[in-house]
Amino acid sequence: MTDPTAPPRRVVLHADVDSMFAQVHQRDDPSLVGQAVLVGGTGPRSVVAAASMEAKQEGVRSAMPMSTAVRMLPSYVIVAPDHERYRRASAHVMAVLAASADDGLVEQVSIDEAYLAVTAVDPERAARRVVDAVLAEVGLTVSIGAASTKLGAKLLSGHTKSVHGPGTVTWMDDATLLAWMATLPVRALPGCGPVTAAALHDAGIETVADLRVADGVLLRRVVGRAARAALVAGAWNQAPTTIDPPSARKQVSHERTFVSDLATTTSIAEAAASAAEAVAGQLERSGRYARTATVKLRTTGFEDRSRSRTIAAGTRDPETLGDLARELAVEAWEAAGEEPIRLVGFSASNLSDVEQPRLFG
Ligand SMILES: [Mg+2]
Repeated sequence: MTDPTAPPRRVVLHADVDSMFAQVHQRDDPSLVGQAVLVGGTGPRSVVAAASMEAKQEGVRSAMPMSTAVRMLPSYVIVAPDHERYRRASAHVMAVLAASADDGLVEQVSIDEAYLAVTAVDPERAARRVVDAVLAEVGLTVSIGAASTKLGAKLLSGHTKSVHGPGTVTWMDDATLLAWMATLPVRALPGCGPVTAAALHDAGIETVADLRVADGVLLRRVVGRAARAALVAGAWNQAPTTIDPPSARKQVSHERTFVSDLATTTSIAEAAASAAEAVAGQLERSGRYARTATVKLRTTGFEDRSRSRTIAAGTRDPETLGDLARELAVEAWEAAGEEPIRLVGFSASNLSDVEQPRLFG
């Protein structure tokens, strides 16, 4: 279908290892191939950590109680999780992806998912070559979505897996992608969780197509200004395209959502300080220093308030960052009108490899 004389184009790939934990066990133990494999414990309160394709076909899902899963299956094998083995497999997959990627850049988003870009005349064939390379070198199947944006690629990797099965590829050009996306439920878009989807449903907005033609004033009333802008952009595939490997990240952050809201100065300041300590650890591991600290608080009404400060010299000292976090948290909480807080985040930016500030330039 692709014109062989066309110029090469850059596409973003979203690669997702199929049922990774279960697949690693099947790869390493041939007796498990073709079996419904359940990864998890066998105690009365165990849940399924991961399931093989064969188990998923019978309706088993991750996080389901193990006792429920085994009742759904005519035969099954339970194996204990081996996280060290998954980490090694993941590192191996990421290395193979990097070898196929433009500029060797891979943005790993979880243990079994990553974005990369490739430039090719035939994007689908290029993506298939990546699938083949991972299978040949690591022995695992990945499914790949390919599109002009990360959003498109991510939607298509899920699509290809569910429609065509593991180890498959789907690429769409922009026009095809926009037409296909129109048919998707609004829930498919990032930032559209169950609450937003329910609010949209009540307003008669069910699909991405509905979202594109929805009245702007109505939408803003239903989901708020920020969410409206994000949803409409996503509906039109206006989404990031750059591959951002962790080592090139311009900020390091940590945030935590609390089960019960925080409503005292001390609890909020200490939550910010502990997020700052986590960030200090990340800076230490990546060998970098930060000059700017930012605390973000989210109220129970989903309003975000943040406060930043930039200091003269780069630091990754947990105490220094922790003290900054406490001060900024108090300021941000005042700015939030001392509303109860559900999420506390800390980020460090203005990163460099050296502790000293740049004196010139
Ligand atoms: Mg996966």
